[in-house]
Amino acid sequence: MPRFDVISQGEELLSGSTVDTNAGWICHELAQIGLEPGRITVVGDVLDDIRAVFVEAAGRSSVVICTGGLGPTSDDLTSDAAAAAFGQAVASNPEALAQVEERYRSRKREMPPANRKQAMLPVRSTVLVNRLGTAPGFRMEEGGTVLYFLPGVPFEMKAMVAEHVIPELRARFALPPRRTVVLRCMGIAESVAGQKMEGFERPGVLVGFRANMPEVHVKLHLSPELDPAPLIAEVRERLGGVIFGVDTGPLAEVVGQHLRARGETIATAESCTAGRIAAALGAIAGASDYLLGGAVVYSNAEKVRQCGVDPDVLAAFGAVSEPVARALAEGIRTRVGATWGLAVTGIAGPGGGSPEKPVGTVHLALAGPSGTTHKRIQLPFERERVLLFTVGAALDLLRRAVDTPT
Ligand code: AMP
Ligand code: MG
Repeated sequence: MPRFDVISQGEELLSGSTVDTNAGWICHELAQIGLEPGRITVVGDVLDDIRAVFVEAAGRSSVVICTGGLGPTSDDLTSDAAAAAFGQAVASNPEALAQVEERYRSRKREMPPANRKQAMLPVRSTVLVNRLGTAPGFRMEEGGTVLYFLPGVPFEMKAMVAEHVIPELRARFALPPRRTVVLRCMGIAESVAGQKMEGFERPGVLVGFRANMPEVHVKLHLSPELDPAPLIAEVRERLGGVIFGVDTGPLAEVVGQHLRARGETIATAESCTAGRIAAALGAIAGASDYLLGGAVVYSNAEKVRQCGVDPDVLAAFGAVSEPVARALAEGIRTRVGATWGLAVTGIAGPGGGSPEKPVGTVHLALAGPSGTTHKRIQLPFERERVLLFTVGAALDLLRRAVDTPT
């Protein structure tokens, strides 16, 4: 597999005032078409540093993508550094100058003289059109390596990768077109998914993983001649029931589709998540078909008032317990008149934990037409992620009940 290097250029990236989002995005896109990410380098605005990074990357990889440093100011040094790295001079490139001038003309603005600098390119380089901004990009070929120099502004960069870089690299390396199948999982760690998928790769099949909390996505990048169905079946065998969708939207959307297809409804009773489960369901267009309502029952008094939980049960077992979770689910189901009642009660932390009920203890319950199921989970996270994963686990409990046809 041809290897690529990514270079993010700009003092703002080193100082921490801008987060480098370009490099990760580029790695993801190029890996998708079958290139191997080699290294990401961040470099500031020092000419000699940038020059050295270019030389090193070109010596190591067959593709180099650099973003940033194409602006009109004196700290924009990419062009000078690229020229210096490969023993070239810079000169005003007529095509690049025409592009910069046209950009100002089309907006009926006077071009500041400083912007002429953006047309100063290494003499043996090829201009790349930037439809969305002023700074043209350029391409160089040095000793078997192709180098792309793109603007730092993310949306300009992304358009240029899509329009120039990807089609050119596909052609250059005769990369087969691939289709990507995304298997969405809930209730499995990315590392565990990785272990279970070990050895799955084969000719025409690349496997990728992405933690999209609380979901984990397993991606199959397939050569077009392959039939995805048996491969998906094999992944299902390896990962089991954690897969809730193949090429679908997020879990709340998938759960909603199942409920709609079955003509069923849902109501929620939420202690620790304080409405986030209902909010996740309600974020999906058309949720009024199945989401009837829900209760935020943070205090014991509200658990009694809104869901009819027996105060003696609360006193005997505590709010974070299986009997209370079951009573909440059953109470909200009956009171709202929904097919399903979904309830959570847990300890999100950082305070409130005890040896028997440490932070991250969550009880989930789902009341339905044929009884109530309960699940206790222990989430080894801080507050925000406990809440995020509790929402995921609750929706997944419901999903497992409704994802088979009635
Ligand atoms: P430049 O092309 O270096 O003038 O960058 C223009 C702007 O794009 C910068 O001010 C940043 O806001 C943004 N930018 C540059 N490089 C990156 C990067 N690697 N990731 C995200 N944003 C960037
Ligand atoms: Mg810059």
